Formats: sequence, structure tokens, C-alpha cells
Amino acid sequence: MRIKIVNVGEPVLRTAARPLHPEEIGSSRTRELIEHMRETLADAPGVGLAAPQIGEPLQLAIVEDRVEYQANLTEAELAERERRPVPFHVLINPEIQLLSSPDTSFFEGCLSLPGFVGMVPRARKVRVKALNENGEPIRIEAVGWYARILQHEIDHLKGTLYIDRMWSRSFCSVDNYNRLWKSKPTSELLQAFHPRTDGTGRDANLSGKSPEERNDETATDRHRSTS
Ligand SMILES: [Zn+2]
Repeated sequence: MRIKIVNVGEPVLRTAARPLHPEEIGSSRTRELIEHMRETLADAPGVGLAAPQIGEPLQLAIVEDRVEYQANLTEAELAERERRPVPFHVLINPEIQLLSSPDTSFFEGCLSLPGFVGMVPRARKVRVKALNENGEPIRIEAVGWYARILQHEIDHLKGTLYIDRMWSRSFCSVDNYNRLWKSKPTSELLQAFHPRTDGTGRDANLSGKSPEERNDETATDRHRSTS
């Protein structure tokens, strides 16, 4: 069953999701929820979906980057993004650790903000600890686009959206992205949108947060990933 995806403005997208209890994982309700999310993601289509996006404030997300979703990118674009197919999998109660600084920027969109994209700086490499749908621990080390998807989905579980991290002046409609920016080399996008080069004279503040907040976040993530 396809479930309605909620759009930005719904409070559930701005709420920290709660962890699933051990007895909930593997329950028929959770299994059904995962199946509905899988159908909803395939129908959208998209490469990741977090439970808050269907109105459930739970630390549950799914990821699947099918080869057919990559058909509109050239070999060079796929290589630059380090984008490769990712089989379907489930993340429950995930903890993420950034293994590099968030300085790899590409346009990114979200099913909860249909019709828009923005340039988002992300870490190229991450480590994720989580449980799968059977409650078994999993560890993932991901690079490139897969690392980006993981950061995006796990952000959803904390009430964070890509617009909180994007270079705000890069925000544009998908129509205008396809018309004006899609075929531009990354160097030109950086020139146009990087906070240090966009003509505003502002310092680079890649996540939209103060350096102190960013350090706190990194420290929290590091702590959580080892606890
Ligand atoms: Zn999203």
C-alpha cells in the first residue's frame, strides 16, 4: 500500500524520532510499515525514505538506489558523484559518524519538498551502526552518493531537512535546475553558489549553523557512534 508522503511544514518532519523498542522490531506492525514504505519509495520514486516522511516519528528508514534511477546521468557524472546501485535495506535506530568533513557538494532533493533541489555539502564518507528489520546489528561504511543518502535519511530522524544544510542561494525549482544548472560542471556550480563566492561576502557556513553548533553535532555523532 502506498502511503502519503508528508511535505515540509508538517511538525513530524521537525521532530526528533524515537527509537524502536526491541519488542517492536520484527513485530507485524513494523514489518507492514516497512513494506508500505518500500512500496511508497518505489512508487515515488526515490532512493531513501524515513518514517517521519509518512507521518511516523520512528527511527526507521529505508534505502534503495536502483540502477535505473542512474540512467539519466552520464558515466562521468556517476563517477564524480561516486554513485553506484545500492540494494534495498532497512535502518533501525541508526547512529552515524562522519569520517570526513562535510565538503562534498551536489544538488539534492527530498520527497517531502517536491519540485525543488539545492546544493548540499555532505561528508564523502560515513560509518553507520544500526539494526536491520530482524533486529540484528549492521555496520555500514559508505562513500559518495550512498554516504549522502545515509546522511539525508538519518537527518530526517533528527528533524533535520536538507534545506537546513544547503547553500541557500542554490535553492531552485527542479524545472530550473534541469534547464539551467543540470549540465553545468561542478566548478561552475561552486563558483555560482558557494557561500564564499556568491557575492554576499559572508563566511562559508556550510550547514547554516554556527561553528560551535557544528562542533557539538560532530562530537555528539562521534560519541553516539561509540556508545
Ligand atoms: Zn528527504
